[in-house]
Amino acid sequence: THRIFYQAHSVFSSGGGKIPLGLKRKGLRIVVTGGAGFVGSHLVDRLIARGDSVIVVDNFFTGRKENVMHHFGNPRFELIRHDVVEPLLLEVDQIYHLACPASPVHYKFNPFFLNYDFLGIHKTNVVGTLNMLGLAKRVGARFLLTSTSEVYGDPLQHPQVETYWGNVNPIGVRSCYDEGKRTAETLTMDYHRGAGVEVRIARIFNTYGPRMCIDDGRVVSNFVAQALRKEPLTVYGDGKQTRSFQYVSDLVEGLMRLMEGEHVGPFNLGNPGEFTMIELAQVVQETIDPNAKIEFRPNTEDDPHKRKPDITRAKDLLGWEPKVSLRKGLPLMVSDFRQRIFGDHKEDGA
Ligand code: NAD
Ligand code: UDP
Ligand code: UDP
Repeated sequence: THRIFYQAHSVFSSGGGKIPLGLKRKGLRIVVTGGAGFVGSHLVDRLIARGDSVIVVDNFFTGRKENVMHHFGNPRFELIRHDVVEPLLLEVDQIYHLACPASPVHYKFNPFFLNYDFLGIHKTNVVGTLNMLGLAKRVGARFLLTSTSEVYGDPLQHPQVETYWGNVNPIGVRSCYDEGKRTAETLTMDYHRGAGVEVRIARIFNTYGPRMCIDDGRVVSNFVAQALRKEPLTVYGDGKQTRSFQYVSDLVEGLMRLMEGEHVGPFNLGNPGEFTMIELAQVVQETIDPNAKIEFRPNTEDDPHKRKPDITRAKDLLGWEPKVSLRKGLPLMVSDFRQRIFGDHKEDGA
């Protein structure tokens, strides 16, 4: 039923009203910015499988060609190396706008990125989102923004509901990310109200799964890689801070329902199962190596103390809720990580 709703508004039917019943649906033309990344590439798999034509726009900043290589040669798949900070002309029906380096952590710990990434990430969020909204406006495409739970900052309300405005430091080390996404949300709503662009906003909570960046410093990828490499799991701070971890297939299902549905949002998309970092380390031990050691390290500045989505709105209006628990989902990324860490004679694992 979601698809039928969409057809009535799709450019394919804009000429002469509704598509007659029984006529086969033409595939949609869909842009996925950031489609060579972790979440984007799983989304692309689903869209291609559904019969749509997909154009991935990615500058490979954190994404990898390997994530989408299996579609090379498919006439319904196209890959464009492009930075969304630059304008782009395309004719499409839907835009999933994911482009944005996802983890602020990697800027904090990697001195190589100093001076460059903070600006790059902010520009991608602001100018990149503006460009994709301009594109949506010009061609009448529906636009979906992947925002983040980080817009809630270090939240004073728990769990976080969409109506909560957040507690964000505008001048902190992770501001380029969370304030950038807040601006992206503002732009999205301005184009919706001011220019009539059909928009959707998802606020994504911590997500994990195969094809995650191995070394970008996020906690799940860190712990899994560390356990496989027989290194100690690095718990920051006292490890009592919490996060709620969502398996990637649940997120992709939520994003597609949101795009096809009739509600703008914002919608929290996340798994309400809440874990402390110590508990997460224990699940990783159970899953990969019961003998893995835990090592405490100083925590980073402005680290949110807890985070857990209230997903009532998505349940009620999108009929969506996550299906994969952390204990079921973690093993699903282990073989991918094992292969990427040890498979291509990159490391010996010692
Ligand atoms: P990712 O880093 O794997 O993917 C992001 C992709 O965007 C990469 O392929 C990267 O190369 C590309 N990109 C970055 N800057 C670009 C630019 N200027 N032009 C073109 N491409 C660019 O991250 P992900 O986890 O797949 O995240 C996807 C989206 O979901 C992001 O917008 C992120 O903010 C959002 N999100 C993710 C999570 C999570 O836990 N994974 C949580 C909240 C929000
Ligand atoms: N834009 C783009 N592709 C398009 C249409 C617009 O990249 O197909 C960019 C455009 O370069 C501009 C931004 O989107 O920087 C906003 O476009 P809009 O038309 O809303 O604003 P204007 O160009 O009038 O400032
Ligand atoms: N973290 C940790 N060990 C690591 C990496 C991160 O304990 O090796 C902590 C981090 O301090 C934060 C939590 O795990 O409290 C989640 O961090 P991540 O970067 O994965 O996500 P975000 O902070 O963006 O929610």
